[in-house]
Amino acid sequence: MNRKEKWTQRRKSANLKLYIIMILLTVVVLAPLNYFVLTGLNKPQETKKEVANVSKQETKESTQPSSKSQVYEQAKNSKIDTSKWISVQEEAWIPTLMYHHITPEIADSNCLAPEDFESQLDALKKDGYISVSPEEVYLILTENKKPAKKIVCLTFDDGFDDFYKNAYPLLKKYNMKATSFVVTNFLNKVSFLTDQQLLEMKKSGLISFQSHTVSHQSMESLNVDDQLEQLKTSKKHLDDLLKQDTLVICYPSGKLNDDTADLGIQAGYKLGFTTQPGFAAKSDGLLTLSRTRISSNMTGEEVINTLKAAGNH
Ligand SMILES: [Zn+2]
Repeated sequence: MNRKEKWTQRRKSANLKLYIIMILLTVVVLAPLNYFVLTGLNKPQETKKEVANVSKQETKESTQPSSKSQVYEQAKNSKIDTSKWISVQEEAWIPTLMYHHITPEIADSNCLAPEDFESQLDALKKDGYISVSPEEVYLILTENKKPAKKIVCLTFDDGFDDFYKNAYPLLKKYNMKATSFVVTNFLNKVSFLTDQQLLEMKKSGLISFQSHTVSHQSMESLNVDDQLEQLKTSKKHLDDLLKQDTLVICYPSGKLNDDTADLGIQAGYKLGFTTQPGFAAKSDGLLTLSRTRISSNMTGEEVINTLKAAGNH
């Protein structure tokens, strides 16, 4: 073998080595790369599919009425432990304050300025009051015990949007619970709360939304069927929207007739609020509870004095 032949053979074997290295490189480097590229491409598709499924389920849930068992299961899961509550010797009662508008524009006696509302919350807090939810109201009245010595229930009628703008930020600041009675046909209309606002506020754990009927008609003037329609339809609307077992009916303008309380129970409510002045007590009937109206310019001190005066009875 001469030098030229030797050189050619060496070159051939070098080329062969190069081929082998290239094949190895293809297998070792490119195959995993392909794998990552392919899986990387597939993954978002899978995620997209999952998201699509979830949102499909959510849409299904939000458009389909929740079954009674589902609603009650949720209510059961959020059951309040009353074992450490203070037992009440006499009949338990709850001062329940009734508000309407919280707004700087005082048009009538149903409007309270935000600074006056804040001074009331401040006074209640400083005097040791804690605010209770509708579920707690039910337990206080039926089990005759309470979560603290000084309790108060804050209620807001009609579902005006100034509740979201002016009351909610202050309720959060003072960590006070409140109940808003909404008229289901008024939701999402100008000057009223929207579904989104309800969901956001409910999520805070401070605000509860309960029924103020479908169209704010006086129960007193409606026949049995129409009353039942108002009671049932508004409850179902809120049950479905907020995934809850709506507990309270607040009668428009506090008006009701002899049938209304029984129809309220028939529709699935456990509590009913009127505008009858006084404090909520079981002996008045769980579906006909009294409240204290808060009018314009009422100071924190005046609210405390009202509550104190009642406590002296
Ligand atoms: Zn009303």
